[in-house]
Amino acid sequence: MALMSESKTVARSASSVQPPKRLLYGPGPSQVDNRVYKAMAKPIVGHLDPYFFTVFEEATKMLKVVFGTENPLTFAVSGTGSSGMETAVANFVEPGTKVAVFANGYFCDRITEMARRQGGEVVRFEKPWGETFGDDEAAEFIQRERPQVVTYVTAETSTGAFQPGKAICAAARAVDAVVIADCVTSLGAMPINVDETGIDIAYSCTQKGLSCTPGLAPITVSPRAWDRLKTRKAKVQSWYLDLNLLNEYYFQTPHKYHHTASATLLYGFHQALSLIMEEGVEKRWERHHQAHLTFIKGIEAMGLRLHVAQGKRIWNLNTPCVPEGTDDAKVRKILLDEQGIEIAGGFGPLAGKVFRVGIMGPFATTSNVRSFLRHFANALAASGYQKAQAAGR
Ligand code: PLP
Repeated sequence: MALMSESKTVARSASSVQPPKRLLYGPGPSQVDNRVYKAMAKPIVGHLDPYFFTVFEEATKMLKVVFGTENPLTFAVSGTGSSGMETAVANFVEPGTKVAVFANGYFCDRITEMARRQGGEVVRFEKPWGETFGDDEAAEFIQRERPQVVTYVTAETSTGAFQPGKAICAAARAVDAVVIADCVTSLGAMPINVDETGIDIAYSCTQKGLSCTPGLAPITVSPRAWDRLKTRKAKVQSWYLDLNLLNEYYFQTPHKYHHTASATLLYGFHQALSLIMEEGVEKRWERHHQAHLTFIKGIEAMGLRLHVAQGKRIWNLNTPCVPEGTDDAKVRKILLDEQGIEIAGGFGPLAGKVFRVGIMGPFATTSNVRSFLRHFANALAASGYQKAQAAGR
C-alpha cells in the first residue's frame, strides 16, 4: 500500500522527457536525421518474426556496401561500439594467443585491456597520442613478433589520427595472423574498404559516421577468420558475444533464439543505412572530406593549430589545439549554454590540450561548418582568445 502511494507521488512529480535542443558536434553521438527517429517510432515485431529478418537482411546488404565487403558474416551486434570490440577480441583471442596491438591512443588501450582479460599475450608498438605508424615500421613489428592476431584503430577518436591499414594487413597475412580493425568512428564517413584493405574483422558503432542512435555494433568477419574461429581450443568465453551462437540466430534457418534483439534499433539502423545508399557512399565520404577541409581552413584562419599532422587526420573528427592560456572547458560551456552546441575536450595526455570536434552525418556540409566556426570563434573570443575575435568578425 505504501509502495503504491509512493509510486503515484513519483509519477506525479516525473516530467515527460523533453530533451534540450542540441547540435551534436562532438566525437559522437552525431546528429540523427528525423527520418531515423520516425523509423524508430514504428511498432516493434518480435526478434524471430519473419519481418524482423526481412529488415535485417536488407540492412546487412547495405552494411556490406558501407564496409566494402562481401563477407557473408556481416551484421550488427546488440550493444554499443565496445560490444563490437569485445566480440572481435573474445572470439579471436583465447588464453595464450599472441596479440599485436598498434597503440597510439585510448581505444588501442581498451583493446589491450580486453585482450589481456581473454588471457592473450599482448605485445604493443607504442607511439605518442596523435601519431600514426608508417608502413615499414608496422611491417617490421609484425615480422619480428609473429603474432596470431593484429589489432589497430582506423580512426583514433581520442587523438584525431587516422591509421591506414594496407601495410598492416599485408604483413599480418604474411605471418598468418588475422587482423582486427576498429572502425567505430570511421565507418560511413571515410573509406574503410574492408576486403580491399585485407581486414579480417572490422567492427563499428551506429552513432558516429552512420548518424544513427547508439545501441548497435556493426561487425564483419572474413571467411578466413571464420575458419580460424573453428580452430579455437577453448570455447568462446563470452556466451552473449559468441559468434557461433550469433550466427545460428541471425543466419541459420530456422533462426535459433539467442537473445531478444531490438526491432526498434534495427529499424533505425536500416533507415540510417538507406539514407547512405540514397546519397551514395562515395559521395558521402567526399562530403565529409570537403567539410573537413573547410573546417581546417577556418581553424587555421583563427590562428589555431591542429594536433595531428596534415595527411594523417580523421575527416570527421578534428582535434584543434587549445590556444595557450585558454580554458577549453570554458569554451565548451559557452557553446553548450549559449548555442546548444556540444563539442568535447581531450583526455588522458591530451586533457586541456585539444578540442574534439565532430563534423559528421547531416552536419558535414560547408554551410554547417561555417556556422559552427562562427560560434566557435565567438566562444574562444569570450574566453579571452584574441585572434578568434578578429576571425569571427
Ligand atoms: N572505439 C573507438 C575508436 C571509439 O571512438 C569508441 C567510442 O567513442 C569506441 C571504440 C567505443 O564505442 P562505444 O562508446 O559505442 O561503446
